[in-house]
Amino acid sequence: MKIKNHRLYRDDDSPYPYQRSPNGGGTIDTRYLVIHFTAGGSAEQSVTWLSNPLAQASAHLVIGRDGKITQLMPFNQKAWHAGSSSWNGLTSLNSHSIGIELDNAGLLKKSQGKWKSWFGRTYPDDEVLVARHRYRLEESGWHTYTPEQLEVALEVSALLVRKYDLRDVLGHDDISPFRKVDPGPAFPMSSFRSRVMGRVEDEPDIYETITALNIRQGPGITYPSIENSPLPAKTRLEILDTNQIWKFVDVLDPVNKVSGLQGWLHGNFIRLKEEAHANG
Ligand SMILES: [Zn+2]
Repeated sequence: MKIKNHRLYRDDDSPYPYQRSPNGGGTIDTRYLVIHFTAGGSAEQSVTWLSNPLAQASAHLVIGRDGKITQLMPFNQKAWHAGSSSWNGLTSLNSHSIGIELDNAGLLKKSQGKWKSWFGRTYPDDEVLVARHRYRLEESGWHTYTPEQLEVALEVSALLVRKYDLRDVLGHDDISPFRKVDPGPAFPMSSFRSRVMGRVEDEPDIYETITALNIRQGPGITYPSIENSPLPAKTRLEILDTNQIWKFVDVLDPVNKVSGLQGWLHGNFIRLKEEAHANG
């Protein structure tokens, strides 16, 4: 797929279905991609509703459970998908993001032994994930996404991130915490985000130690240092995992002629290494 004049096309130059929504318009300063679920019964119903002035809502794309994409707004114009929202010092994310709606019934409740959506449809157990949303105390049912839908979402998201130089992929629940729960626990946000962003920039961030620094077997000072600890200042690192302020790192430089060290160190004593544009 490709983007021409802020519209989505297939590789053979045929356009994806396009139905301009009246709910939006005006230019945006695009920084983020925001993922939603429709909480609806079908992609067609959601496209119809998001094209209705009464909805006062829209999105740039709706992706069906079969992976069918419909575009409702050019990517350089504002769609009303985020509502009251904030992220990283920005507010009203409609003015700063592209919104993708995934056809999904959303939160499901058990009633007489069956999982039911808010609009009364029942769902088989194999389409339901039982999980607790991070803003909720109780577990509930969440309609799962289909592999076809996630694959298409991944492809179009990577394209949008590359084309519009987007900084991150966010959930509606990230930018409107407590008010919104979509795309919810059934959406694999962490792997989706890393795959989308990873396709864009394959180079991991490189860090370096600020000072000579102990490297340990676990995330805390009670864990013993590993052999060849401490690392000298300016040792280059890649962060593989995080436990609060402790970072599990891959040591990129040999230490005492030993390569491939891995272990935990305190995150206050490392910094992002400035990119070196010239070698030597
Ligand atoms: Zn939403």
